[in-house]
Amino acid sequence: MAAGSAAVPEPRRTCIGCRAVREQDRLLRLTADGCGGVVVNPRRAFGRGAYLCPSVACLEEALRRNALSRALGVDLPGLNAPALRRRVLAEAGRLDAAAGLGQRTGSGAS
Ligand SMILES: [Zn+2]
Repeated sequence: MAAGSAAVPEPRRTCIGCRAVREQDRLLRLTADGCGGVVVNPRRAFGRGAYLCPSVACLEEALRRNALSRALGVDLPGLNAPALRRRVLAEAGRLDAAAGLGQRTGSGAS
C-alpha cells in the first residue's frame, strides 16, 4: 500500500553551519538538553530545534559562529564539543548508509 504522499514536498530546513537548505530527514536535529548541553536527534522533540548537515565541518562552523546556542535560544555552557563531534560522525555514518540504499534506484531514471 502506498502512502500516497509522493506529491507532498519534503519539509526543508537550513543547516546552522553552512546555511544549506536540505530535506529535513537528511539533517541532524539538535535540541538543548536543559543542562547546558545538546542532544542529537532526540527521540522526543521538545523545545526549539537546530538543524545541521551530518558533517563535522558544519558542526565546527556552527560552533565557531555560536550559531548553535543562537538557534536554540539558550546558552550552552555545558556543551561537550568533542562528544558532540563524535555523535555527529556516528549519525553521519548512519545517514550515509541509508542514502546509499535509497539512491541506487534513483539514478538513471530519466
Ligand atoms: Zn551544513
